[in-house]
Amino acid sequence: MPPNRPRQVVILAGGRGRRLRALTDRIPKPMVPFHGQPFLTYLLQMLQRQGFERVLLLLGYRGRAIEEEYGSGKKLGLSIEYSLTSPENETGRRLALVYDRLDPCFLLVYCDNYWPMQFQTMWERYLAAGLPAMTTVYSNRDGYSKSNVRLDERGYVVAYDRYRKQPGLSGVEIGFAILNKDILRLLPRGNPVFQIEVYSRLIRKRQLLAYSTDHRYYSVGSLDRLTLTDAFLAPQRAVILDRDGVLNRKLRRAYYVTHWKQFKWIAKSREALRLLKQAGYRLILVTNQAGVARGFMTQLDLDMIHQQMQNDLRRFDAAIDKIYVCAHGWNDNCRCRKPNPELLFQAQKDFHLDLTRTPFVGDNERDMEAGRRAGCPAFWVSPRHNLYEWTRKFLIATMRTRDRLLGSAPIGWPKPPSSHER
Ligand SMILES: [Mg+2]
Repeated sequence: MPPNRPRQVVILAGGRGRRLRALTDRIPKPMVPFHGQPFLTYLLQMLQRQGFERVLLLLGYRGRAIEEEYGSGKKLGLSIEYSLTSPENETGRRLALVYDRLDPCFLLVYCDNYWPMQFQTMWERYLAAGLPAMTTVYSNRDGYSKSNVRLDERGYVVAYDRYRKQPGLSGVEIGFAILNKDILRLLPRGNPVFQIEVYSRLIRKRQLLAYSTDHRYYSVGSLDRLTLTDAFLAPQRAVILDRDGVLNRKLRRAYYVTHWKQFKWIAKSREALRLLKQAGYRLILVTNQAGVARGFMTQLDLDMIHQQMQNDLRRFDAAIDKIYVCAHGWNDNCRCRKPNPELLFQAQKDFHLDLTRTPFVGDNERDMEAGRRAGCPAFWVSPRHNLYEWTRKFLIATMRTRDRLLGSAPIGWPKPPSSHER
């Protein structure tokens, strides 16, 4: 029988945090504050939004401070339990000690990584694979961190190296692992490191699946990461927009806006951008312009159009903050042409966005797919429900819920408008 969707999270939070010594002499690593609240609070809030109800915190170094901060967890809408043991205990030992308190299937999280999880998608993947363990792996194509795993083409983890020294590693294991409790039987006695002992045994049996992600994780593990994490956790608002059919009138398929004279604003789209700007949103444009590769215009023509567009928008106090263009052709097999989500992930990295809370507004199936693959709430606009209408609804909805709406209960994937509107 397939397991029930887990409601229990187990968080490993016992480490000394040696790399952060200046900060962690007095407070444990997960309690390092960002914008007035501890790192761990952001993590717990996200887990709660993703449908987790019970948390088991495995504590060691200065664990009392964590227990005092969260108590029963009621304030966060969670039920929190603790296991406080020696700071010398390794992760395997910590888990073995709570074996009887674990659900048959649970989520394992490291206290020093924040990653905007989309649990439902992960759960579907886990169920489909029918394996006892699936962990999340950051693709690390940008060399953000030192890799510690290698995956095969089917997404199985085929090597794990905690010390990050083996050749050919590509990807970082970041936790957020869905685990069947039975795998803890693979732990040897003593004080083992969970990942070294259990993951390597699973790998040998080809039983460790990776959930791969291009969305950056943010960490409190080392000093050089703190500024990025600080930017990511700052209250931030951004909307990602497609261009043709959202801002300006779309021409027929295979016809391109090649000159400013052909660029016709859709009714009130500039007003919509101004409203978003006034509400504090960053505006990011992600557009496919295959007309460049197909020879209908040059890159310079396209740049000129965008310059004019920005000049016009500036007069409205509605300039776009950054424009991302895929100028490849239909058959170039690039990574950046929507429905590929590459440019959305690029914006994620440039602005430290949480894409799960960043709406993406487009006008066709390709946009919706790119948005879905990037983890954005994706919205479909059309001549009848244009950007202005969407913006009005969106701003009212987010104000009503004090901006928590996108994280807890997304406005929802709109039904695509009927075909004549596309
Ligand atoms: Mg479009």
